[in-house]
Amino acid sequence: TTTDRYAVFGHPISHSKSPRIHGLFAEQTRQPIHYTAQDVTAEAFQAAADAFFANGGKGLNCTVPLKELAWQYAGRLSERARKSKAVNTLARQTDGGILGDNTDGIGLVNDLTLNHNITLPNSRILILGAGGATRGILGPLLEHRPACIAIANRTLDKAETIVAEFADPDLSCSDYAGLASRQFDLIINATSASLSGELPPLPGDLLAENGCCYDLAYGNRPTAFVQWGLARQARQSLDGLGMLVEQAAEAFALWRGIRPDTAPVIDLLNRERKALNLS
Ligand code: NDP
Repeated sequence: TTTDRYAVFGHPISHSKSPRIHGLFAEQTRQPIHYTAQDVTAEAFQAAADAFFANGGKGLNCTVPLKELAWQYAGRLSERARKSKAVNTLARQTDGGILGDNTDGIGLVNDLTLNHNITLPNSRILILGAGGATRGILGPLLEHRPACIAIANRTLDKAETIVAEFADPDLSCSDYAGLASRQFDLIINATSASLSGELPPLPGDLLAENGCCYDLAYGNRPTAFVQWGLARQARQSLDGLGMLVEQAAEAFALWRGIRPDTAPVIDLLNRERKALNLS
């Protein structure tokens, strides 16, 4: 059997957990794949992707800051990737064409609903941030018929563009000041503020009773937004590690035609970071 090659491209990339996660999936499903991480800047993306596929590479994950470039690069797009204008997964098809998909949204929805029993239908959802990640998660969240989704962003016109593009009656946006006296059952942090330990300016009573918080960012310690949720008695305040594993599983399924079991992988990564924090 031949070993098929896959990689994650991004900048920075050295801390990426994707090689580890796909390695665990490969072991579990006995799929002969080799998955590496490559530091690729926006400027270098096109040439690096061309070279990767020309040398027989089968699939790529693309992360910050490459998702919009990957969307432009793909010759074909899944419906959800077309809508989101962001691609996190590229797959070389048998005829040589490159398919672009976005598995971030389904990854988030699976983590929320299957791993954490958070119900989306009829819930009031707030998304903080209006970047590539927000674009990726909106479609799959809207499919679950929440009562409403509000987007809040520092740069309002970026949020307005997304609302206009998705054109859904349940979708609206504002700046952070516009959140005063509103309440939500689920608040999703899709800003990159957590990465630098910051938080957008949020009113103290934003989270409804029994509401949940979810930070797309993740780290070895609770992020600033996870801590914000815990301090406000969120029913659950979660970070994006589960989503990371779930979006990877969807990419793996697209590439290999077999869906790995995510629970043992999430478990292992959680146990490892607990051990780190105790040592
Ligand atoms: P982008 O750079 O495209 O967007 C970043 C967003 O964050 C923008 O809306 C920006 O606002 C906002 N922002 C940044 N800093 C601040 C701040 N200090 N205060 C308020 N708003 C701020 O990033 P992405 O959308 O690609 O990624 C967002 C986050 O999601 C990252 O942390 C990323 O790691 C995470 N992610 C996690 C995934 C997972 O699997 N767990 C998958 C995908 C993403 P403005 O428009 O005003 O500049």
